[in-house]
Amino acid sequence: MNIEKKVLDTIVKYKLFGKKERVFVALSGGKDSTSILYILKKLGYNVEGLMIDLHLGEWSKIHLRNMEEFCSSLKIPFHVVDLKKELGQGICFIKAVLKKKKNLTGCTVCGIIKRWILNKHSKKLGASVLVTGHNLDDEVQNVLMNFLKGNIMLGANSAPSTGTKQSGFVQRVKPLFFIPEDEIRKYSLSKKFKINYDKCPCAFETYRTDTRAWLKVLDLSAKQKLKIVNNFQKVAPKLRSRRVAEGFEIKKCSVCGEPATGIVCNACKIFESFRDDS
Ligand code: SF4
Ligand SMILES: [Zn+2]
Repeated sequence: MNIEKKVLDTIVKYKLFGKKERVFVALSGGKDSTSILYILKKLGYNVEGLMIDLHLGEWSKIHLRNMEEFCSSLKIPFHVVDLKKELGQGICFIKAVLKKKKNLTGCTVCGIIKRWILNKHSKKLGASVLVTGHNLDDEVQNVLMNFLKGNIMLGANSAPSTGTKQSGFVQRVKPLFFIPEDEIRKYSLSKKFKINYDKCPCAFETYRTDTRAWLKVLDLSAKQKLKIVNNFQKVAPKLRSRRVAEGFEIKKCSVCGEPATGIVCNACKIFESFRDDS
């Protein structure tokens, strides 16, 4: 089955979104988000691109320029959120301060900030759903990482669709959830998308990088990867129910008003740490 048909099947099976909804795609400038934006446009969905300028020097400039051209060639509205305007600093500075102060390494800090910005701005811009480019390999990594951390509860939200408007989240959806990364790379190359395949200059060695390397050695087939993810999908709803039974609920952050699991959201805790150093 080709990739476009697989995407459509996932959208229909999991009722991700309809043709009349405003579907925002979180763009990184890489193969996954570019491919899904292209496929959704081709399938006739009402798509818009949303990108964060992380201020990673030339790397960010190239990605932004590529995405601007890409969206303009397909007549797709393109929105950019400037991290420096939003937070006063670029991502490398923020990551360096958090490493020094809280020993937070890897892409955790960047991930929390990006999720916060994307949710806040897609909500402000009127998005019905927010599409991310997460693929089957990302999901396999999540399952294994959580298992190796001894906490499979961390994967409770694993699903092609997560977050609800009621809890202050724009619905986040992953139409590439069941598609292997290799297949997306081949698709992107076959379409000759003008994108940059280089690694982010600010990516440090992380637990995810190690897990990815380990999975590469295992050389799992697409079938084996699907088995891992499909089996976990049978467990995830039970984990969600257990979390609710244990009193878990989404609150409003007392500082920014965005969704939070505690009194203050994780993003505001990060902002607090680096603002003193700005
Ligand atoms: S690789 Fe890490 S630092 Fe770079 S954009 Fe992604 S999450 Fe951020
Ligand atoms: Zn907050």
